[in-house]
Amino acid sequence: THFGFETIDESLKESKVKGVFSSVASSYDRMNDLMSLGIHRLWKDHFVRELDPGSPSVSGSLHSGSEEKGWNILDIAGGTGDIAFRMLDHATTINSDHKTRVTVADINPDMLAEGKRRALETPYARSERLSFMEANAEKLPTIPSNSVDLYTVAFGIRNFTDKQQALHEAFRVLKPGGVFACLEFSNVNNPVFNYVYKRWSFGAIPLIGQIVAGDRDSYQYLVESIEKFPSQPEFRDMIKTAGFMVPGQGWEDLSGGIAAIHKGVKP
Ligand code: SAM
Repeated sequence: THFGFETIDESLKESKVKGVFSSVASSYDRMNDLMSLGIHRLWKDHFVRELDPGSPSVSGSLHSGSEEKGWNILDIAGGTGDIAFRMLDHATTINSDHKTRVTVADINPDMLAEGKRRALETPYARSERLSFMEANAEKLPTIPSNSVDLYTVAFGIRNFTDKQQALHEAFRVLKPGGVFACLEFSNVNNPVFNYVYKRWSFGAIPLIGQIVAGDRDSYQYLVESIEKFPSQPEFRDMIKTAGFMVPGQGWEDLSGGIAAIHKGVKP
C-alpha cells in the first residue's frame, strides 16, 4: 500500500471490519464531519432527496400498490441510522407519508446500539416505521425475496468482503421495479484535484483519527478501503452483473467524484 501499511487478508476482513466499526461507533459522526469537512451531510441529504422516499413512485417504476402501504425500505450497513432518519423525515414532511418504514440492517451490534440510542431523539423510536436488525449484507435469510421497494447502502459496501454477492442479495430481496441505491466514496476525475485529495486522505485522516478518536489504525483502514473500491464504471458493471437495469451512465459523481451515487432498478 502507499505508506507501507499491511494489506488486509480477505479472510480476516470481516472480523477486522467489525473491530473497526466497534471502535469508531461513538465518535463516528464527529469523525465523518472532520474527515469530509462536513460535506458527508450534504451528500446524504442529496442522496435522500433524489430518492424521494414515500412519493407515489420512483420514476414511475416502484411496485404498484406501494403508495397505499408506504415504502418498505431496507437500509443496509445503516449503522447509526443517518440515512434511515433522513428517509423517514423526507417521507413524512415532503410526501406526507406516515406509512413508509425502514429496516436498518448492520453487521455490527455496536453501530446498531448507537443507532438505537440516536433513534430516541427522533419521533420514530417507538414507532413501527423503524426497526433494527443485525445482519450481513451478503446473506439476508430473514428477508423474503421480492419484498423490498428501496434498498439503500451508504458508505457501507466498500467494507463488504464479497460485494458482488451482496449485490445479488440486494437483487433477490427487491421487488420487480424496486430500486437499489448506493452512496459511496469513489474516484476523483481531475488528476490535480486527485493528488490534493490523496495527500489529504492518506496524510490527514489517520492523523485526525489518532488525535480525535485515539485510533489511527481504524482510520488508516477506512482510507485504504476507499482506495481499493472499484471505479465508477467497474461498480456500475457489477450492478448490471447482479441483474439490475442501470439508468443512463449508471452513476452520479458528487464533489468531483470523491463520492458517487449508483442506482439500479430490478426489472
Ligand atoms: N450508512 C451509515 C452512514 O452512512 O453513516 C454507516 C456507514 S459506516 C461507514 C459502514 C457500516 O457498514 C458500519 O456500520 C459497518 O458495521 C457496516 N458493515 C460492514 N460490513 C457489513 C456487512 N457485511 N453487512 C452489513 N453491514 C456491514
